[in-house]
Amino acid sequence: MATVYACPICQKATCLATTNPFRPFCGQRCQNRDLGAWAAEQYNVPDTEITLPLDAGNDYTELDKE
Ligand SMILES: [Zn+2]
Repeated sequence: MATVYACPICQKATCLATTNPFRPFCGQRCQNRDLGAWAAEQYNVPDTEITLPLDAGNDYTELDKE
């Protein structure tokens, strides 16, 4: 007895069974799409955690002396 549900990517009716290697997706295409979106989110991390050292400005000032 298979459970039919909507693919989270394309909303197509999909069979949630162990015979479906791409579950919970309807196929490889949607599985790849999900993985791609996940990877994109990982690379698109907000740079709010990146802070410059307080003395970075001083270093640049010294380099400009030449
Ligand atoms: Zn799909």
